[in-house]
Amino acid sequence: MTIYSGPVFEMARQQFVTIADHLQIPDDERDRLFYPKRAITVSCPIHRDDGSTVVYQGYRVQHHLTLGPTKGGTRFSRDVDIGEVSALAIWMSWKCALAGLPYGGAKGGITVDPNTLSIRELEALSRRYMQEMIPFVGPHTDIMAPDMGTNEQVMAWFMDTYSVHQGHTVAEIVTGKPVATGGTEGRREATGHGIAYLVERAFERLKMRVSGSKAIVQGYGNVGSVTAQSLHKRGARIVGVSDHTVAYYDPNGIDISMVDEHVARHGVLKGFSEQLKIDPEDLILRDCDVLVPAAIERVITAKNADKLKCRVLAEGANGPTTPDADLILDQRRDEIFLIPDILANAGGVIVSYFEWVQDLQQFFWGEAEVNEKLYGILERAFNQVMNRAERDRVSHRTAAMAIGVEKVRNAKRTRGLFP
Ligand code: NAD
Repeated sequence: MTIYSGPVFEMARQQFVTIADHLQIPDDERDRLFYPKRAITVSCPIHRDDGSTVVYQGYRVQHHLTLGPTKGGTRFSRDVDIGEVSALAIWMSWKCALAGLPYGGAKGGITVDPNTLSIRELEALSRRYMQEMIPFVGPHTDIMAPDMGTNEQVMAWFMDTYSVHQGHTVAEIVTGKPVATGGTEGRREATGHGIAYLVERAFERLKMRVSGSKAIVQGYGNVGSVTAQSLHKRGARIVGVSDHTVAYYDPNGIDISMVDEHVARHGVLKGFSEQLKIDPEDLILRDCDVLVPAAIERVITAKNADKLKCRVLAEGANGPTTPDADLILDQRRDEIFLIPDILANAGGVIVSYFEWVQDLQQFFWGEAEVNEKLYGILERAFNQVMNRAERDRVSHRTAAMAIGVEKVRNAKRTRGLFP
C-alpha cells in the first residue's frame, strides 16, 4: 500500500527497478533508496479577483536527506499531483548525485493552470504556498527553485514570504531568483546553456559539428527557448519549435530572434506563422540532427520511438521518454545518441547550487565564472556517463542513473540506519 501512484511515478519506479537489478541491489535495500522521506500536502486558499475564495492543492516531496538538504523546483500545472511530484523529486536525487552536488532531490507543485490566474492571484497563491511550507523547508533543509509554470518572479515572492516570517532576508531559501534579489548571473539560462554544451560534446564524439546541423525543440519556455538560442548561436539551424498552443516546422530554419520577439509580446508561439504550422504530434518525428524535448513527461513512447529521425536526443524535460520507449531506443543505440534527462538538464540545478553557495557566503560571482564552473561539472558528468556506458555496455540512461543511485546508496550505507 502506498500513497504514490500515477503514470509518472510508475515510470520512475520502473526505471529504478532496472537500475537496481543492474546494480544487483538486494530487495531489502530498495525501498529505503526509492521511497520519498517526506511528502507534504497543503491546502492553499486565496481570494480570486471576483471576490470568491478558492482552495488549491499544493505538494512538496523531499526524497532523501542523506547527502545534505533537499533541492528541487516548484511546478504550477493543471495536471500535477503527488505521484508526479514524487517522481520528479526522485529523479532530482539521481541528478544531483550524478553532478556531485551535496543535495537530495525534492520537488513541489500546485495543481493550477497559472494562465488562468491574474498577476495578483498568482502572487497570492505563491505566497500562500510558501507560507504553508515554512515549517518544512529551510536553507539547510529544503531549497526551492523554479520549474514548469513558475519563474524568477514567483521565486522572489517565495523568498520574500519566507524572509518576512523570519524577520530578516533569507535569500538562500530559494534559487532561480532575479539577480537583483540575490539570484545569480546565469541561472535563468543555465539549463538551456547546459543542454547546448552537452549537445556539442555529443557531436564531438560522433565526429559531427553543431554548426550547420538541424535542431527541433519541443516546448518554448525557459528551457526550450534558451536551448534554441544557444544552439543557434553555435551555428545550428532551428527547423522546428512548439509549445502547448502550436507547432512550427521549416526545413530552411526558423528565425529564432523573431520567434523570441513574438513570445515576448504574446506569451505563446501561437500567431507567429500560419504557413509553418504542423500537427504538434508530428514535430518530434521530423528529420533533424538534434531533438530536444523540453516540455512535459512521456512524449517519447513505444508508439513513436522507432520513428524518431534525430541523431542526438537531448532530454531537456524531465522524464520525456517512457521505459517502453527506452527499450526501443536501446536497440537504436547506434543510430540515436541519447543525452538522458538527469545529465542533459542538470545545468539548472548546478547553477542553483552556485546561487545557494553565493547567497550563504554573500559573495557573488560574474557570469563568466558561473559558466566556466557549470561547464566543468557538466563535462565531468558527461565523461563519467560515457565511460560507464562503454565499460558496462549499457545505455547512457542506465549509466547515468547507475552512477546517481550508487552514490546515494553508498552514502546511506556509510551513514548507517538510525537508531
Ligand atoms: P516553462 O513553464 O518555462 O515552459 C514549458 C513549455 O512547455 C511552455 O512553452 C509550454 O507551452 C510548453 N508545453 C507544455 N505542454 C506542451 C505540450 N504538450 N507540447 C509542447 N509544448 C508544451 O517550463 P521549463 O522550466 O522550461 O521546464 C520545461 C521542462 O524542463 C520540464 O520538464 C522541467 O521539469 C524541465 N526542467 C526545467 C529546469 C529549469 O531550470 N527551469 C531545469 C531542469 C529541468
